[in-house]
Amino acid sequence: MIALPERPNWQQAAACRGVDPDLFYPGRGGDTAAAKAICAVCPVVAECLQYAIQAGERLGIWGGQSERQRRQARRHFIRPPRPTVCTFAGCTNKPYAAGRCRRHHREQERA
Ligand code: SF4
Ligand SMILES: [Zn+2]
Repeated sequence: MIALPERPNWQQAAACRGVDPDLFYPGRGGDTAAAKAICAVCPVVAECLQYAIQAGERLGIWGGQSERQRRQARRHFIRPPRPTVCTFAGCTNKPYAAGRCRRHHREQERA
């Protein structure tokens, strides 16, 4: 018997099982409507999207979202927003490194 690579459980219920995978990898500028229409009725769309974002899947439609949409989601959910002012309590200077202003960064380095 051939051992199949392990797949996440939710894929058992995927609406795209048995569908031509090319549909989900339309390439740059390709038509994503057909794939997204399948994802729209998929019972595991949330699991699929979460998996793709966490696994850093760069190519193809996952969880009803294109590469670009997932890139934006990753930015929002995984990378914390950059501070616009120094994170040192009460300081309003612009961040320099590690979210601290030049002065507080240097103080932290010396400490
Ligand atoms: S959300 Fe789309 S890509 Fe993901 S399992 Fe469902 S149909 Fe397939
Ligand atoms: Zn500061």
